[in-house]
Amino acid sequence: MAGGEAERVDGQRLLIVVSAPSGAGKTSLCEWVVRTVPNVVHSVSHTTRPPRRHEVEGRDYFFVDEARFRAMAESGEFAEWAEVHGHLYGTSRAQLAEHFGAGNDIILDIDTQGAALLRKSFPDAVSVFIVPPSWALLEARLRRRHTDAEADIRRRLARGREEVKQYNQYQYVIVNEDFARAAGELQAVILAERRRSFRVSLEFLSGC
Ligand code: 5GP
Repeated sequence: MAGGEAERVDGQRLLIVVSAPSGAGKTSLCEWVVRTVPNVVHSVSHTTRPPRRHEVEGRDYFFVDEARFRAMAESGEFAEWAEVHGHLYGTSRAQLAEHFGAGNDIILDIDTQGAALLRKSFPDAVSVFIVPPSWALLEARLRRRHTDAEADIRRRLARGREEVKQYNQYQYVIVNEDFARAAGELQAVILAERRRSFRVSLEFLSGC
């Protein structure tokens, strides 16, 4: 563990909420942060969307049918949930409790509706909005992905334009033009937020 981490033992854990238009590179950035920043884990959401090729149950999402999702929502099992691109997505309270319980910070990759709900229930959450450098590049990235039908790509682009209007509801904005730079900026946000005085416990000094 890097020097200086010990004082966080009793400090507050971070909830990092990341939103972006589909195709802006949010998933790759979040994965990179989880791999490179100690004690940051990604919360796995539930969704009614069918799995894409290469997606793995329990790693990318928990894939459930609509009846199961709605039953979970009804019984208050989600910290937030929303309908996105015609499917339901939600963050389960159990995931948050498990990761916070293990002493980790949590990064959530969720849409703007879910982020708004979480900002209300977790006012100390750190929120980051990722934007592409241009709409043309976003469209090219979505097409390169080859995983979505044309109608779905159109829907994602239209929704992206709406979502970007909410960028100023987030504390930080990162332009993902160059991946390494954007990744460094996201890492810097997390490391700096860990040093906010209200999150730091100085109990390790109590014996002095
Ligand atoms: P995709 O289908 O491309 O994996 O995700 C579509 C959108 O759903 C993305 O904007 C993603 O951030 C969002 N999303 C994924 N999980 C959740 C969740 O648990 N809650 C909410 N509100 N949005 C989510």
